[in-house]
Amino acid sequence: MILTADPIEILKQHQLKNTKQRVRVLEEIAADSAAISQPELEKKLGKEIDRVTLYRILNTYEDNGILHRIIDLNGTANYAICSSACTAHHHHDEHVHFNCTNCSKIYCLSIKVPPIDIPKGFETQSLNLIAYGICEKCSKNKD
Ligand SMILES: [Zn+2]
Ligand SMILES: [Zn+2]
Ligand SMILES: [Zn+2]
Repeated sequence: MILTADPIEILKQHQLKNTKQRVRVLEEIAADSAAISQPELEKKLGKEIDRVTLYRILNTYEDNGILHRIIDLNGTANYAICSSACTAHHHHDEHVHFNCTNCSKIYCLSIKVPPIDIPKGFETQSLNLIAYGICEKCSKNKD
């Protein structure tokens, strides 16, 4: 699981100006151990931040190694806080993600994606491994 960190500290570490809106977006994302989908963020922050601004903030965060994006089963973008190893344009989020088919939440797992042999001449820029199934919370609620 990703450690929840202080939004203001994260912004400082990445030398980004801390605006109220930027802090709010990070707060929402850090509030849950699971990743948060863009529509969910829009719903939660809609009254404070308009869609265009939200979109711009998410892009800035992704560019600066603060958030990584995971595309779920439905093609929806989900965002999770990066490990502290991520910097601008250099993400190191090669961990396994878990997409629950019941609640559709995405979790960052602390399991590294195993190295794979890519044929010569191909250059990997990112590697995604998503496990699909039932998350801990949902399987507990079942019985
Ligand atoms: Zn990252
Ligand atoms: Zn679930
Ligand atoms: Zn992740």
